[in-house]
Amino acid sequence: MTASRVNIAPGGLPASADGAVIVPLHQDHPNASGLATSAQKYAWHSLSREEPPKRDAKERQADFREIYQLFDLETVKAQAARCIQCAMPFCRLGCPLSSRIPEWLALVAEGRFLEAAEISQETSSMPEICARVCPQERLCEGACLLLERAEPVPIGAIEKFINEFAFEHGGATAARVMPNGKSVAVVGSGPAGISCADALAKLGYAVTVFEAKPRAGGLLVNGIPSFKLQKEVVDRRLDLLMRRGIIFRHHTTIGQDLPLAKLLEEYDAVFLGRGAQHARKLDVPGGNLKGSCLALDFLIAQNLGPASNYPSVPIEGRQVVVLGGGDTAMDCLRTAIRGGARKATCVYRRNETHLPASHREYRNALEEGAEFLFMATPLELVGNPQGEVTQIRLARTEFGEPDAQGLRQPHAVPGSDFFIPAEVVLVAFGLDPTPFPDSPEWLDIQVNELGGVAVDENQMTSVPKVFAGGAQVNGANLVVYAVRDGYRAAAGIHRYLSGKA
Ligand SMILES: Cc1cc2nc3c(=O)[nH]c(=O)nc-3n(C[C@H](O)[C@H](O)[C@H](O)COP(=O)(O)OP(=O)(O)OC[C@H]3O[C@@H](n4cnc5c(N)ncnc54)[C@H](O)[C@@H]3O)c2cc1C
Repeated sequence: MTASRVNIAPGGLPASADGAVIVPLHQDHPNASGLATSAQKYAWHSLSREEPPKRDAKERQADFREIYQLFDLETVKAQAARCIQCAMPFCRLGCPLSSRIPEWLALVAEGRFLEAAEISQETSSMPEICARVCPQERLCEGACLLLERAEPVPIGAIEKFINEFAFEHGGATAARVMPNGKSVAVVGSGPAGISCADALAKLGYAVTVFEAKPRAGGLLVNGIPSFKLQKEVVDRRLDLLMRRGIIFRHHTTIGQDLPLAKLLEEYDAVFLGRGAQHARKLDVPGGNLKGSCLALDFLIAQNLGPASNYPSVPIEGRQVVVLGGGDTAMDCLRTAIRGGARKATCVYRRNETHLPASHREYRNALEEGAEFLFMATPLELVGNPQGEVTQIRLARTEFGEPDAQGLRQPHAVPGSDFFIPAEVVLVAFGLDPTPFPDSPEWLDIQVNELGGVAVDENQMTSVPKVFAGGAQVNGANLVVYAVRDGYRAAAGIHRYLSGKA
């Protein structure tokens, strides 16, 4: 851990990225036994990090079920005891939700799983989902102090265990609270919308979530494949929200089926969590040939089936090339392999070190048989007389001189062209904030430099009563940042409606 990664709040205590003070374990939670015993504190000396059991790659290729299994009881306790309970919990700083990780790890080490889950649920509306999809190596585990000497505590796998334990043993509940007489409309049912709705419902607001698609969950169900996050896990969470009293209206696009003005008339506040699902296109000759498809469209068709109304792309026996190196690209490769692709190759213009995808997902893709072609960029898609793509013309790339920000951008090497076979090309070049519906009522909402919705420190937009968060504001990012924004917006809405803003 380098000093530059730690924020210090007034008073010298460490702070999260938002400046919130992080209080050491023993001051925070009276139920946890406080500082670890010396035996526990040095457990990491004698015990290495273990990963949760993972299904064999050959077996994984044949289905879409999640690939990781749960730790057993003894392993989860032993792994949690590897936490040294440092006075300054850097893992909390690494978590965008400031999850009280050392506290629940101390309880897990003592076998007090339900109490541990209760604490983990306090800072997240979906800890069992974040535990599955967060790239912990870049967040909590990447900040674990143990990293200086050993492997970090497997925080994500332990959090998954305790929350699954809670679901199985009645520790994941959703009580209704006394209505406070006010109502909020939430537009979009992705992690931002869900978290905002959940936090508001807990404060007594009557919340209705409007979702354009036939199924709630946003990219948790449409985009992220089941081998990372099974749909039942999302449905189980949505079911809890409904039991809390939140109403979901599917098949309802705000700005098309219902105007925004109607929501502003009928509700005390509106939250926009419309996501970032505007895909960047492949701008080369032949880019529109049959067989070329945007990665998200491909994944939505695979995830939702015919109900999605997205055309499915035949994969079986074909050579699939995925362009791009992010998480979406890894998901496409692994989906193509499960769909029976003859070969699934990723083409990325930088090298392995610069791959933006999580290392864990890159490793999983390699294990399952994906191939990688680094330092190459597409110049043209070549087709047959039927207009179907058959090859890609690529150029080798090399890094240029550092630009004003010190970054060395890759560029095509003149004369280095070569061809590779491709019958399906999936374009995973990134996603921008979902544009506003084509209606003048949205024009008063100001946009930011990312093309997303501009918000203030309360997540309020330039239009009073209208709040926003998640990928709709920040552009494509992680689930955990959408959850954080949903919470921030709920707090902002509560302050606004109780006259405290
Ligand atoms: C393929 C893929 C894989 C990913 N993998 C990971 C991962 O492993 N880990 C991770 O942390 N993140 C991952 N992400 C990113 C993550 O899914 C997003 O950051 C997150 O879903 C953003 O949440 P959100 O609520 O802002 O938006 P979304 O999840 O996009 O939800 C927005 C919702 O709003 C609805 N909507 C839009 N317009 C309207 C309207 N006018 N009226 C009504 N409803 C509307 C949409 O239908 C959608 O359901 C992945 C993304 C993709 C595409």
